Amino acid sequence: MSTPIFIKSAAAPADFPSDDGREVAFVGRSNSGKSTALNLLAGVRKLARVSKTPGRTQLVNFFAIGEQRRLVDLPGYGFARVPDETKDHWRVLIEAYLTTRRSLVGVIVTIDIRRGITDLDDALLHWLEPLGLSVGLLLTKADKLAHGAAVAREREIAERVGRGVELTRFSALNRTGVDVGRGWIDRWMQRDAASAAP
Ligand code: GDP
Repeated sequence: MSTPIFIKSAAAPADFPSDDGREVAFVGRSNSGKSTALNLLAGVRKLARVSKTPGRTQLVNFFAIGEQRRLVDLPGYGFARVPDETKDHWRVLIEAYLTTRRSLVGVIVTIDIRRGITDLDDALLHWLEPLGLSVGLLLTKADKLAHGAAVAREREIAERVGRGVELTRFSALNRTGVDVGRGWIDRWMQRDAASAAP
C-alpha cells in the first residue's frame, strides 16, 4: 500500500469523489477504535482524526492509497446523546454510500472486543449481508483482555457471525492483527480488480 493521501471529506453523496477503481471502507461504533485502526493499517499517524466529540464526524473521508485505490472513513455510530436528526443523517449518508458505491469492494468493521457485537453492530452486519461485499471484523483493544479471554471472545464472536465474515483480534498497542487487516485490504482490492477484467 503506498502512502495515503487525503482526497476529500463529503457531507452528502453529491460530494463523493468519482466512483471508479476500488475502495475499502471502515465503519464502527464511536470509540470502538476505528480511527486508530485506519491510521495503523494505512501506516500513518494522523490520517483519520482520533476524536471522541459526538456529532463532529458526520463526514465520509476519502484517502488515496495508490492508483484508483482508496480507503474510506465512514462516520461512527452509537453516540447516545446525539439528536435524532443526526442519527437520521448518519443513516441516510451511510445507506447511500454502501448501497450505491460501485467501487466499494469490502468493509472493515471495528468492534471493541470487550463490548462484543452490540445491537447496532448486529443491525449493520445484517444489513451488509445481501450487498455481496467482503466483510472483516477487527476486534479492537485486544490488549485490554488477557490473552486467553481475548481468544475465547474471538471464538464466541466468530460463531455468532458465521463463516462469511472474516475476523481477527486487533490491538493498536502491540500491533496484533495489523498484518491480517492489511492482508484483507490487499486481497479485496486485487481480487475484484481481477474479476472485473473482461
Ligand atoms: P473511534 O471513535 O472509533 O474512531 O475510536 P478512536 O480510534 O478514537 O479510539 C477510541 C479510544 O480508544 C482512544 O482513546 C484510543 O486511544 C483507544 N484505542 C483505540 N485502539 C486501541 C487499542 O487497540 N488498544 C487500546 N488500549 N486502546 C485503543
